[in-house]
Amino acid sequence: MRSAGLSIRVPGDKSITQRALILGAMADGTSRIEGALRGADPLATGRALARLGVEIDGLGASEDQVVRIAGRGLRSWKSPKGILDLENSGTGVRLLAGALAAQPLTAVLAGDESLSRRPMDRITGPLREMGASIRYLGRPGVVPFQITGGDLSEIRHEGRVASAQVKSAILFAGVGAGVGVEVLEPRRSRDHSERIFEGMGVDVAEGEATGGWLVRMPEPPPRLSPLQMQVPGDFSSAAFFLAWAALVGCGDLFTVEAVGVNPTRTGLLPALARMGADIRVVGRRRTGGEAVGDLVVAGDSSVLGAVEVGGDEIPGMIDEVPILAVLAARAEGVSRISGAGELRVKESDRLAALATNLRRIGVRVEEFDDGLEIEGTDAPLTGPVETFHDHRIAMAFGVLGATPGCDIRIDGPGVADVSFPGFWDLLARVRTWWETVSDGTPRRGPGTRRPTSGMREPRPRARDTPDTRMPVVAAPTGCTVVAIDGSAGSGKSTTAAAVAGQLGYRHLDSGALYRAVTLGLLDADPGMVAGTVTPADLEALDIAIEWDDRAMAVRMRGARVPEEALRAARVTSEVSAVSALAVVREHLLQLQRAAAEGPGLVAEGRDMGTVVFPDAVVKIYLDAHPRERARRRILQRGESADAAEIEEEARRLEGRDARDSSRSLAPLVRAGDAVLLDTTHMDPMAQMEAVVGLVRAVEGSH
Ligand code: C5P
Repeated sequence: MRSAGLSIRVPGDKSITQRALILGAMADGTSRIEGALRGADPLATGRALARLGVEIDGLGASEDQVVRIAGRGLRSWKSPKGILDLENSGTGVRLLAGALAAQPLTAVLAGDESLSRRPMDRITGPLREMGASIRYLGRPGVVPFQITGGDLSEIRHEGRVASAQVKSAILFAGVGAGVGVEVLEPRRSRDHSERIFEGMGVDVAEGEATGGWLVRMPEPPPRLSPLQMQVPGDFSSAAFFLAWAALVGCGDLFTVEAVGVNPTRTGLLPALARMGADIRVVGRRRTGGEAVGDLVVAGDSSVLGAVEVGGDEIPGMIDEVPILAVLAARAEGVSRISGAGELRVKESDRLAALATNLRRIGVRVEEFDDGLEIEGTDAPLTGPVETFHDHRIAMAFGVLGATPGCDIRIDGPGVADVSFPGFWDLLARVRTWWETVSDGTPRRGPGTRRPTSGMREPRPRARDTPDTRMPVVAAPTGCTVVAIDGSAGSGKSTTAAAVAGQLGYRHLDSGALYRAVTLGLLDADPGMVAGTVTPADLEALDIAIEWDDRAMAVRMRGARVPEEALRAARVTSEVSAVSALAVVREHLLQLQRAAAEGPGLVAEGRDMGTVVFPDAVVKIYLDAHPRERARRRILQRGESADAAEIEEEARRLEGRDARDSSRSLAPLVRAGDAVLLDTTHMDPMAQMEAVVGLVRAVEGSH
């Protein structure tokens, strides 16, 4: 007997929340946003806006709390202290760049490893054309970059890809600077910005034109009215549960309530209908200029047929391709997805990520430049799945894993928090409900009827807590501290020394201090056991730093310690164990902090940006491909680097990184607010220039 229906809600729409935050910050007066998503992406945007002087209240609270944004007007953001780290958020960085293009200030935009691979030229191109000054600080075309905004001129932009982010960045820049803009997209992309603008009193016209879809904002108003809006549930989040319901076949009983059904977003629905899943939108209404409805999975659709999607359909389902691919793996026949090359530059290369993972669990897949061919199967699908730090990949395979006959292990499920905090709890609850109902033992009660999305108690982010991340301010001494850490062979020491030289700052080589302690302990007792070291042993070493202008030397027991002694093999082999002792780290803390004197300090080593100088204005984490790091190490030793030798050294380095990353005290990790610089293709000069560029940008914006 099946009778106990289930209605769920999903968190607020990510795209709309991001736009509402930024446009609210540009409005005159206080905006009120209900139902805003509290995922990692909007939280990162919120922190960036806070650094720009915008007061945002309620974003750190649960989703039923109203978010209030005290808008500062179109061109009155404050020069930010520190870098604006948008973490994983492509929308955040691109839209904020648009808004910043019109602000008379300089800011540095940065992000995490995955964001550091996503193309930024598509927005920096038109923004430069409008008159913004943009400088890439690491590799060209990707974050980090520095943007200086101001007066802009009108633009007509013809984009090669249909991208709502590019369109929105241009619209935001146009509205900020008070100049008309036109964007011609090859196909219509999602129009949330246009809908929000309508609610703020901005005229935006759109329609078909030769060459695609034309969006025009001819005369932006001199000010934006504050927003009063309710963010609908995110269709892209709902899609995972619709897919799950279609896979298990719990038709008629399952509803996702209050979901945004803007037609530029719901392209998945006709594709699902062609596969045989009947999903109906009921109770259509409008909130905040957006269409909203309840999505009911009707009929028993557990047997799905293959589908072909491509061309014009793709922009309207761009975020749903991962879940569609997963459905295709369970459909009868061969499904084809084409015209989806854009997926290669999302949070991960989604086509590659899908193909790799589907194959790993036993699905036959062919990968093309712009799509996939997937042969459906009803065989058990089992195995490990790699998320590639992509929330939608994690959730798509999570859905598959929650269906009968599948046993799927997902490597970092926490990445779902980017857009859907509470996803795994909700999936578990839905699954439990279905097990109960399909067993013929329906249960009514609070556990099955209208559960919330699990958004009531937002979890702290695994990587960092917001409180430790802001605000970034100069060290109390007035000395500018630049913290540099990174993997072995990433160019950390060379870069730190070169940056210090270029800026006239001191260079604190903290590794030398840990080496000195190790040397001193070994000298006192060659059979020293790291675990038995006491504070008195450390006091007895009488370690001090001697500054010779800006370079440091270590003194121990009143004498200068020669560099060769610090680098001796017996020291190198013990320093890891010694530096992992809390007593040692504690002992060296004040000594390191006291180094922050004079105009600036480049502090190099573990813990620098987190424990020793948490307020450092610039934090950098250097990394490079293991083979490149190996090559550098070998050349440093004066040996010749043949392929086999490089492979072997790369394995050693990876082993050491793995050990360093997993130790409980001062592990090798990138601090949440450190800018990642991939130095694989950079020479020492370029590395130095990139870091100096970041420091100057941040200093200049104070
Ligand atoms: O940088 P260097 O190779 O001289 O550092 C030696 C070792 O000291 C590192 O491998 C690391 O284990 C430790 N170290 C540390 N914290 C620092 C600097 C170095 O734990 N701040």
